[in-house]
Amino acid sequence: MKPFDYSRLESGQDLSAVAAGRYLGGGTNLIDLMKHQIETPDLLIDVTRAGMDAIEDRDGALVVGSQVSNTDLAAHPVIRERYSVLSEALLSGATQQLRNKATTGGNFLQRTRCQYFYDTTRACNKREPGSGCDAMNGLNRFHAILGESEHCIAVHPSDMAVAMTALDAVVHTRKVDGFKRQIPAADLHRLPGERPELDHVLEQGELITAVELPASPPKLQAYRKVRDRSSYAFAVVSAAIALDLEDGKMRNVRIGLGGVAHKPWRASKAEAALEGKSPDVTLFMQAMQQEMKDATGHGHNDFKITLTPRVVVSVLKDLTGLGEN
Ligand code: SF4
Repeated sequence: MKPFDYSRLESGQDLSAVAAGRYLGGGTNLIDLMKHQIETPDLLIDVTRAGMDAIEDRDGALVVGSQVSNTDLAAHPVIRERYSVLSEALLSGATQQLRNKATTGGNFLQRTRCQYFYDTTRACNKREPGSGCDAMNGLNRFHAILGESEHCIAVHPSDMAVAMTALDAVVHTRKVDGFKRQIPAADLHRLPGERPELDHVLEQGELITAVELPASPPKLQAYRKVRDRSSYAFAVVSAAIALDLEDGKMRNVRIGLGGVAHKPWRASKAEAALEGKSPDVTLFMQAMQQEMKDATGHGHNDFKITLTPRVVVSVLKDLTGLGEN
């Protein structure tokens, strides 16, 4: 690992003094990246003791400090009761020890687990822009089928971010100049396009301070993750779904997908096709086929094009009481 300086951000401290460094939360991804020399910051700024570790009720909305651990967030009574899809997603990720260290802000900002990104002997546009993409014609079973580009087919690895996207969570940040902004979780990450090295829309030195969960999320919620083993595995495909059932009609339908794109994917076409309709298995499948119309496989991951709708249909059946129909 390349030597680096270490400093600590104090509560309310001006960010302009530390903007040249890299923020350190739980370090569960960043330290690995530094060991592999994929990231080589000269300065780490520890943000874990900067007063961003509370979960507060603000007029019914829940504001989660960016340094709340994944364990504490998953176990919080309001999260378990009102945002259960988030608790389920968090508990499906990593291991208990990692969840104890990993933070809410860091979970959003973890980087892809594409194996070629971590192998410095291989071509990877995300690690080294312009070098090529060995995943394109390589082992790409875990890679993207939606929104990818000719430059990168990596997927975002977070479970938490998929649930946050489905819940319409809002990310609060503070920029180096002190300006604060709020970014919908669905807009935090980017598609790869021509610049796959950029994972998200944050500026240099911009700090995630909190995440806000809306006061009245849909009541029926579930997270389902298809993976190669039952723990400590990233999603092959996952779905975070929330909806209400009112007078037999589906309302406020929200579907987040993981393991299919460079960012948590909001299935807005499927949502629109389901909104206001009576639950029906054929309709569920038609809605998802519409969503997957532009999906592209790259060989090893072709199966995701049929697996993804099946996962969503299965969750919708359970949530709407259609069970084994
Ligand atoms: Fe790199 Fe993206 Fe290609 Fe993986 S898919 S090798 S991260 S450019």
